[in-house]
Amino acid sequence: MDGIRSTLIMHNVVIIGSGCAGNTAAIYAARANLKPLVVIGHEAGGQLSITSLVENFPGFPEGVDGPELVENMKKQAIHFGAEYIHGSVGEADLSQRPFRLKVRGEWIEARTVIIASGASARWLGIPGEEKFIAKGYSSCATCDGFFFRNKKIMVVGGGDSAMEEANFLTRFGESVTLVHRREEFRASKIMIDRARANPKIEMILNSAVESITGNEQGDVVGVVLNNFVTGEKLAVSVDGLFVAIGHIPNTKPFVGQIDTDTEGYIVGKGGARTNIAGVFHAGDVEDRVYRQAITASGAGCKAAIEVERFLEAEGH
Ligand code: NAP
Repeated sequence: MDGIRSTLIMHNVVIIGSGCAGNTAAIYAARANLKPLVVIGHEAGGQLSITSLVENFPGFPEGVDGPELVENMKKQAIHFGAEYIHGSVGEADLSQRPFRLKVRGEWIEARTVIIASGASARWLGIPGEEKFIAKGYSSCATCDGFFFRNKKIMVVGGGDSAMEEANFLTRFGESVTLVHRREEFRASKIMIDRARANPKIEMILNSAVESITGNEQGDVVGVVLNNFVTGEKLAVSVDGLFVAIGHIPNTKPFVGQIDTDTEGYIVGKGGARTNIAGVFHAGDVEDRVYRQAITASGAGCKAAIEVERFLEAEGH
């Protein structure tokens, strides 16, 4: 495919990640004639690649297929001269410039780096769950809730996200069942109270989803719950199963060099800056609040503009 590189050399800017943040950064950096190199990463296209219809990205009145949207962003970046390479950054040396990133066993050198490696939703980890993703099993209520109008919805989790998503999903669902593995919630009191006061939300505690049941088309039609206290198994009919059990930021190669918080999210230093001059962040790798395609794209744009100014100030 055009624009896909196989040889590794020094670059003005290496963008790590090919979701909305990375691809948008690539479009801007390419249009600034910086010839960015994008390291695609282990989840090509980021979280949108596992969504179905995206209805809240501006400019698409009928909605747009998630994988198609990110693929088009990539094509747009390649059109302006961005290059993409398969693989993930396994190791990074950001202690001196040029920065060095190891991809598929080879070192790439970069004058600047944009970390747009995202955060991956934490899934339940039950056997066979992958085949239900985008077929009724989702990690994004904002993205997919609309598809479960007047349907039976289940949300798994006991944190603020689970409470917020359960409340949000009552706008669509005929019913919302919140399943949590313990008796106590991790969520803040106000969020719990709000969920408890919502007549459409039923709560099942001390329980976990043990298996997901599908129909002939492979769509979710139910789950089997395991109650840890009674040992009872309960089959529940469900059309939409949402997990809200946290995200894992993809920062492993950078921890110890880039400032991160206790959960591994990058701690930004204003704009798109990190604690290391010349290394910038974009998207969910730093943003634990908004986590939307459009906010990630906006962050990618900001990071690329900062890279451009940074390199210009250095005379590149
Ligand atoms: P979180 O606070 O880490 O909560 C994750 C929940 O998922 C916990 O209840 C945890 O159970 C459960 N869980 C984890 N792994 C599980 C598994 N394998 N199976 C079943 N359950 C599992 O994550 P979050 O709710 O996404 O919140 C992340 C951060 O964003 C928090 O700081 C939160 O306050 C913030 N946030 C704020 C708002 C708001 O203020 N509007 C909204 C959303 C998020 P245990 O409790 O048993 O560990």
